Amino acid sequence: MTTLRQDLRNPENDMTTTAFTLEPTGIELRFRRVTLIAREWLTPSYVRVRLESPELAGFTSLGADDHIRIFFPEGDPLSVEEMRAAPNREYTPLAWGDDWLDLEFAIHGDPASGTAGVAAAWAATAPLGSSAGVGGPRGSKVLAGRPDAWLLAGDETAVPAIRRFAQAMDADAIGRVVVEVADAAHELAIDAPAGVVVEYAHRGDEPAGSALTARLEAFTEADRPAGAVFGFVAAEQSIVKAGRALLLERWGLDAAQVIVKGYWKRGETEYHAPH
Ligand SMILES: Cc1cc2nc3c(=O)[nH]c(=O)nc-3n(C[C@H](O)[C@H](O)[C@H](O)COP(=O)(O)OP(=O)(O)OC[C@H]3O[C@@H](n4cnc5c(N)ncnc54)[C@H](O)[C@@H]3O)c2cc1C
Repeated sequence: MTTLRQDLRNPENDMTTTAFTLEPTGIELRFRRVTLIAREWLTPSYVRVRLESPELAGFTSLGADDHIRIFFPEGDPLSVEEMRAAPNREYTPLAWGDDWLDLEFAIHGDPASGTAGVAAAWAATAPLGSSAGVGGPRGSKVLAGRPDAWLLAGDETAVPAIRRFAQAMDADAIGRVVVEVADAAHELAIDAPAGVVVEYAHRGDEPAGSALTARLEAFTEADRPAGAVFGFVAAEQSIVKAGRALLLERWGLDAAQVIVKGYWKRGETEYHAPH
């Protein structure tokens, strides 16, 4: 008996690539003032924080890889203008309710000695009760329909988006998730259906992106699941080349059905990913 997974890998069962689309959707841009109310360390260098505010009523994020701009003021700015002048960085809304919003931060550098970026240092050390600003999201790519298979790959910064994609899968989903982290002690659990394999690429002391690049380069044409595959690759900017080479060249996926993005760039502060 063939399993669904084997069946989908059979080229005779290949389907057209119209099982899903990524629909650009605009959202009215809003700016909100929030307060840091909780912090939970998931690994020694990865923290989930909860922001709270009545201004979060109506907050929504339609796309799993949406980003919002978080503003990190010093103190408690009185005016919105002051808040908007504060340093800011891009983050993925993970989960939210009427008056709360959860985000997850990869902590890089050492917040204590000032080598971390402004966002990482804030997430790691800002006292509970600190003020922050939230802008957006401004627009989304909404996945409409059902991919026949999924390939999600990223480093820690892409884990919130990967979690949201995994949440959008149905119980019969098949695919693979590859997450690059430093080592086994830094692995972040991804809750995915049984047919989706979750694996980790350990970079050890090698540069960020090197282990994920090697893993993506190891996938061959024969590894391509049949049908409409959704591919998402996001990590340090150097991943873009390997992500495109796999998804567009070796697997021949439609560029309109994949998302490949640099989420940050080595040595560059305040990197803005192209949209
Ligand atoms: C669409 C999108 C969504 C994102 N979502 C998330 C998210 O949900 N969670 C998350 O943690 N990040 C996310 N990021 C990445 C985040 O915006 C960057 O990592 C950001 O630069 C961190 O800001 P910072 O102030 O800590 O560091 P910066 O001041 O921007 O950078 C300081 C130095 O640290 C380096 N650096 C930046 N990020 C990292 C890193 N992760 N590891 C090692 N070195 C780094 C820079 O190259 C620079 O040399 C997302 C980025 C994009 C484009």
